[in-house]
Amino acid sequence: MKNLVIAAAIAALSTSAMAQTSNFNYNVDRFADIQVLRYQVPGFNDLSLNQKKLVYYLTEAALNGRDILFDQNGKYNLAVRQVIEQIYTNYKGDRNTTDFKAFEQYVKQVWFSNGIHHHYGMDKFVPGFSKEFFIAEYDKLSIDKLPLTFCDKCTDEGKCSKTLELRNVLEKVIFDPTFLPKKVNQADGEDLILTSATNLYDNVTQKEVEDFYNNIKDPNDPQPVMFGLNTKVCKEDGKIVEKPYKVGGVYSRAIVNIVYWLQKAATVAENGVQRDYINKLIEFYESGSLKSFDEYSIMWAQETKSLIDFVNGFIESYDDPLGMTGSWESIVNFRDINASKRTQIISSNAQWFEDHSPVDTRFKKDSVQGVSAKVITAAILAGDCYPSTPIGINLPNSNWIRATYGSKSVSIENITDAYDEVANGSGLNEEFAYSQYEIDLMKKHLTLADKLHTDLHECLGHGSGKLLPGVDQDALKAHGSTLEETRADLFALYYLADPKLIELGIFKTGEEYKAEYYKYIMNGLMTQLFRIEPGKDIEESHMRNRKLISEWCYKMGKKDHVIELVKRSGKTYVKINDYTKLRHLFGELLKEIQRIKSEGDYEAGRKMVETYGVKVDPKIHKEVLKRYGTLDIAPYKGFVNPVYNVVKDVNGNISDITISYNENYVDQMLRYSRDYSPLTNKK
Ligand code: ZN
Repeated sequence: MKNLVIAAAIAALSTSAMAQTSNFNYNVDRFADIQVLRYQVPGFNDLSLNQKKLVYYLTEAALNGRDILFDQNGKYNLAVRQVIEQIYTNYKGDRNTTDFKAFEQYVKQVWFSNGIHHHYGMDKFVPGFSKEFFIAEYDKLSIDKLPLTFCDKCTDEGKCSKTLELRNVLEKVIFDPTFLPKKVNQADGEDLILTSATNLYDNVTQKEVEDFYNNIKDPNDPQPVMFGLNTKVCKEDGKIVEKPYKVGGVYSRAIVNIVYWLQKAATVAENGVQRDYINKLIEFYESGSLKSFDEYSIMWAQETKSLIDFVNGFIESYDDPLGMTGSWESIVNFRDINASKRTQIISSNAQWFEDHSPVDTRFKKDSVQGVSAKVITAAILAGDCYPSTPIGINLPNSNWIRATYGSKSVSIENITDAYDEVANGSGLNEEFAYSQYEIDLMKKHLTLADKLHTDLHECLGHGSGKLLPGVDQDALKAHGSTLEETRADLFALYYLADPKLIELGIFKTGEEYKAEYYKYIMNGLMTQLFRIEPGKDIEESHMRNRKLISEWCYKMGKKDHVIELVKRSGKTYVKINDYTKLRHLFGELLKEIQRIKSEGDYEAGRKMVETYGVKVDPKIHKEVLKRYGTLDIAPYKGFVNPVYNVVKDVNGNISDITISYNENYVDQMLRYSRDYSPLTNKK
């Protein structure tokens, strides 16, 4: 079961009243449905030289994994990226033509999504430029510009080059809407592997993969590894085989670079435990052994002393239709000491929250193990965390490790702050909120309430509860991610309204939770639909989870008028009449979702998701899109990274690392493709 990342969507939609004044320019680029921002890294300059070096080495390890994610997301992504970058940079014609402008947008979209499918909606991009434009520009490229590794015949050294065959393949990949239409397909009843474009499996059916893992899984093993986490499953000579991502295996050239920088990082680790876990991670990358990865995860989860920390590896499995293979990602960060006091209070009361939750006693943990929670400042985002990034993370994902050794939970404050800064004044709440009361409520309290929601979701929600003995951690299958996010959100929502938060000194007025409740329901029932294209259902786990919770509470509270949809001048508004009853509904649903998870009740879970989380009311959907159209808000946001510069003394030793914030989106992407593309660049 994947217990993990939280989507940034909620914060991205919030209007906050933060009255920070700064001259920092957060806005970097705007195209299609995307807004690209930048984030600050406050506190970096106060780090010691050793700590700066550690951050720097880890950021290099992070950036070297970029190609891996492109390839995991789709077999042709690296080839597409290389070719369109070459066309983009070598283009000699008028850059203001319709074709070129549409082409430029496509290039920016592919960069943003690490591939040819939308990072959130999962559908393949529809190019706005003509096939003729593409072919003409492709034919102008010189052969040495295309050192490709795109087809089955390619060796690791990259034998493919510019050919007519390649042009034909890319033409199909880019222009044929029926070819690889979806990155991850979660439609009930279809073969999820054959109908998904992700490159995690090759030449195998869903049934073959499921049978393969059912055969090697021991249901009685109390400490199972995360099967399939770092492998590509293929069929060779009629046999199913796992090919591990490792040094000497799949993605070797990228992993070798990652290992090189991790080795440097180990030399400047803040303490022995940190050095040991970095070395253990290196061991994992070298052996591909998931046992090593578990050992690393345990060491990592228990090391809470160091200021600097990082995630680097095959972590989240949202992009595997079967929820097993981890997408490569990395975040390097350091602790925000002041803001961490908030999460420390919550996590030191973890047992109280577990004991008082509305779930059945059989599903509660007798003792909640070391939920370590902190607020962090991100220093680099990479792989599956870039440019679109989470605002909170809770790792490791392995259920038994979480239960035995606890997990690390983080809220990424500098990212949240950047979202808040740009959301300020977007006009969203003024358009959608029922009355001035709700607008004021959110203005006053949403920033803090949102942070608490993230803290509770990550620090406590994912870590709460337990599976009954013998229940398979993957029992909920394709619905596992959605139901897990539902569980964590409900835990957070339920406790936001608890007087305990006032007793702990975190909330002051007892009104704060209402801001989050209102925003959550408004988002779940209405505003989040603006990310969905007309006629489409909801696919993404976090969006399904928010819809599920909001819709369920709306329906179940109907007879008591807990939530109403009020019509006024042709517009629909969410009105919450009874916040106390709404809290009870959250509690009731939490109880049921926890039961489903603890018992591994697949059928009940499937029904819950399909009934409340997927289908969109076309009337409301149309209205939301129309009202959003009047506001200039990009549905999706992401970030460029700062640039770290190495300063050397006369002897060539590093004397300082400085940080700058002036790189634009295009330059950053092209630089990354030039300097951090071990899988595509010629040696
Ligand atoms: Zn989560």
